[in-house]
Amino acid sequence: MNLHEYQAKEYFETYDLPVSRRSIIKKSSDIDEAVESIDFSNGCVAKVQSHTGGRGKVGGVKLCKSKVEVKEFVEQWLGKKIVTIQTDSDGLPVNIISLEELTDIDKELYMSFIVDRGEKCVSMIVSEAGGMNIEEVAEKTPEKILKAKLNSDYLIEEKEIKVLANSLNFNSEQTDQFSKIVSGCAKLFRDKDLSLLEINPLVIKTDGNLHCLDAKINVDENALYRQEDLLDKRDPTQEDQREYEAKENDLSYVSLDGNIGCMVNGAGLAMGTMDTIKLYDGEPANFLDVGGTATKERVSKAFKLILSDQNVKGILINIFGGIVRCDLIAQGIIDAIKERSVSVPIVVRLQGNKSEEGKLILNDSGLNLIGEDSLQEASKKIVELVK
Ligand code: GDP
Ligand code: MN
Repeated sequence: MNLHEYQAKEYFETYDLPVSRRSIIKKSSDIDEAVESIDFSNGCVAKVQSHTGGRGKVGGVKLCKSKVEVKEFVEQWLGKKIVTIQTDSDGLPVNIISLEELTDIDKELYMSFIVDRGEKCVSMIVSEAGGMNIEEVAEKTPEKILKAKLNSDYLIEEKEIKVLANSLNFNSEQTDQFSKIVSGCAKLFRDKDLSLLEINPLVIKTDGNLHCLDAKINVDENALYRQEDLLDKRDPTQEDQREYEAKENDLSYVSLDGNIGCMVNGAGLAMGTMDTIKLYDGEPANFLDVGGTATKERVSKAFKLILSDQNVKGILINIFGGIVRCDLIAQGIIDAIKERSVSVPIVVRLQGNKSEEGKLILNDSGLNLIGEDSLQEASKKIVELVK
């Protein structure tokens, strides 16, 4: 789960990480109050609040010298969508704009904390190349990427901090600030079960002080049960609507670009099904795992999800009955189809526990369902039918 920058900065403040003072605009009538509640003597920075970086490059971050310019910015963005290199071509809705007090910048650096799977720990990455796409920096100038592992107490030794600070040419005061920022971020990362914390850029201000100019936080969703304050920070408008609905119903769903809707029980089988569709030159419209304990209700929800995708021209249902009983699934499929008049062709493969009974139920339903026994045949068939 992602947070908005302004939400991330609220957490930053709790951990004494230096961020700019802000005010939030959710509707045009908020502008006056928002401008008055910050120090506007040097103007401000207006920032689109959507779950994406790369806003600066498309005008989603703008220095405004006057209230008129703020109004223009709000006019330009509020209620619109922002498309960046990090979003898809649809972009993300802009419902919130943050006004920040202006920071005078001397140098932009990069800092992040990640779950480092290779090293089996949390690692910190810092770089003198801030404000840029860090993947690009890593590729073109890997020597500019510095990395340090956090120990099991989420600490980096003071010695190591000093070495990093030296490489970044910090003076002693900046080194102290750096050390505090590192430990603040590490605590926040640990306390809130984050999977990513990124400050790009971390800046050296013209007065020499370090400052977190941007803030990105990803939370490990598996930990949300114990992070109650984070739960109401979720912004569904920033998530793929079908994926969000799937999550609410405990289904694993990822939307894709193709036209064959897939309903499968088990993640591995779902991957295999998508591979087989591709093998026969078809394109899956989604990954959908209804789970090992697929029930009638879940099948019905899954149908609704698949059919809400306008691109779906056919559906392949592939169920392996282990714990799940295929006869119950068959009934679920029939109920779901009757509930919503489905007009696209449906190929069904049932195997395993009570599959013979399941097939009989499907045959007797009088519905236009095509049964296949092998995954190859089933995939071939659905690919043919959507062509
Ligand atoms: P992103 O493009 O979505 O990553 O948004 P950022 O918050 O990183 O802002 C993009 C760029 O805008 C930064 O790299 C800065 O160069 C610039 N910027 C943001 N805030 C300020 C500010 O307070 N003062 C100045 N001078 N530039 C800023
Ligand atoms: Mn940024």
